[in-house]
Amino acid sequence: MRVDAVYENARVFTGSSWTSAVAVLHGRIVALGEDAESLSTAKRVDLGGAFVVPGFHDAHNHMAMFGMTLDEVPLGECKHVDEVYAAIAGRAAEVPRGGWIVGSGYDQNRLIGGHPTRHGLDRVAPDHLVRLQHNSRHMVVVSSNVLDRLDLAKVPVGGDVVLDEDGSPTGLLREQAQLLLRPLIYPTPLDTLVRAIDRAGERYLAEGITSVQEAGVGGGLAGQSPAEVLAYQLARERGVLRVRGTLMVSSAMLHELPDGAGFGLDLGLRTGMGDEWLRIGPMKLFADGSLIGRTAAMHEDYANEPGNRGYFQQPEEELADTILRAHTAGWQIATHAIGDRAISTIVDAYEAALKAHPRADHRHRIEHCAVVSPEELARIAALALVPVPQGRFISEIGDGMAAALGPAREDWCYRQRSFVEAGCVLPGSSDRPVVNGAPLLGLVDMVQRRTSNGYLLGAAERLTPMEALRAYTYGSAYAAFREHEVGTLDVGCLADFVALSADPTTNVQDASVLATVVGGTLAYERGMTDAGA
Ligand SMILES: [Zn+2]
Repeated sequence: MRVDAVYENARVFTGSSWTSAVAVLHGRIVALGEDAESLSTAKRVDLGGAFVVPGFHDAHNHMAMFGMTLDEVPLGECKHVDEVYAAIAGRAAEVPRGGWIVGSGYDQNRLIGGHPTRHGLDRVAPDHLVRLQHNSRHMVVVSSNVLDRLDLAKVPVGGDVVLDEDGSPTGLLREQAQLLLRPLIYPTPLDTLVRAIDRAGERYLAEGITSVQEAGVGGGLAGQSPAEVLAYQLARERGVLRVRGTLMVSSAMLHELPDGAGFGLDLGLRTGMGDEWLRIGPMKLFADGSLIGRTAAMHEDYANEPGNRGYFQQPEEELADTILRAHTAGWQIATHAIGDRAISTIVDAYEAALKAHPRADHRHRIEHCAVVSPEELARIAALALVPVPQGRFISEIGDGMAAALGPAREDWCYRQRSFVEAGCVLPGSSDRPVVNGAPLLGLVDMVQRRTSNGYLLGAAERLTPMEALRAYTYGSAYAAFREHEVGTLDVGCLADFVALSADPTTNVQDASVLATVVGGTLAYERGMTDAGA
């Protein structure tokens, strides 16, 4: 047998054992170790002793949204609200009057002066349309020019327009109230989305990511365009879909189909449609809000905020009904649920749907699954649900999360080890652009669980480097029904892997990405020797 490529002189961790080389034919692994080295090949790549592991797989990210943030004003490093205003003033000098200025990534928990306001934005950009995306993506601050264009009489259920003491809007729109902006900014043009997918993908390859799951296309809070699947298809046709994508479809896009096909998309498309590069994944549903924004639905009040228990984005009965209909129609379901109250409601809804229509291998998911009591933990495991927490949240927004929960509930926050020990399969994910999505950073956080203030949040939930790596590879693949071909480096799997400078199973904090291979092709490399044929 003559193969397309042999990657050799490496320490390859397949996911279960160690070997020295990988042989690739038609994008798949056809041999490992000495068997691979002895094959005749069109191309031989010397990996210089690098550590090779399965490609990283982000089970919950917003790829197009992240790509677009690369063109927005970055606000994540601002420490004082005046720095936010200064950054917007700087961009206002470059953007023609009347145009949009979009900032992203501010977090009032880390800003002296709190949330920016429309008055502050009006001062620095009086002639522009300004909107600042909160890093949670659950709220946005807009300038008066934008506010004037919104129909504030039509605030949707599950959101609010924040008012100051005088009863006038501060510019802050929370949760579903962000949908008021829709007529101004939706849909995002397809070419803008393709550019965003392209730019995001370049970054992902440099970080060792080979597969992602996009957490909500089409509509709703996360979707960018009703034709968003086409944007990914165009990106692929133009050669700029650089990583494999599973697209979750916003529940807002599903409707009752004729002929007993049930709840779904036109043409009957549903979970599983597609191929090894681009697939339709679960239906994505939002139950509640954000923990640091204190809008997630809780059983008890937020710490030091009597009376605030957050809220649902839709009435609970509607959530349960949507879950039942999607489950009945054969969809995998991924529900965003953060507060313990929202999680109870969603577990109830999954349980009822599974009781009405039993399905063995459903893999229904709870995105974030952030505040989990011991009782709910046991139910999540018993129903074989897939919790999808984000390890990187601990370091970037952990202090704000701990403050929102208070000491009594802190140990329930973004669990990891408890899920694994209860028998759940744990994926790895970032919710990028909410936090930095580089998997090596996420892996370190999954192991260390240190907040930016240095606080150890949930010591009992720390994972070993090996467990964290398994989550970010096999676990994510499992969450997308893809573990038979990605997430491990067995013969027959797709040849998606990353070469690292250190062993991530023991020493992840010292590892950096040397090369990334997708479908057997060297898609990114840093300082490698290609020995040729
Ligand atoms: Zn998300």
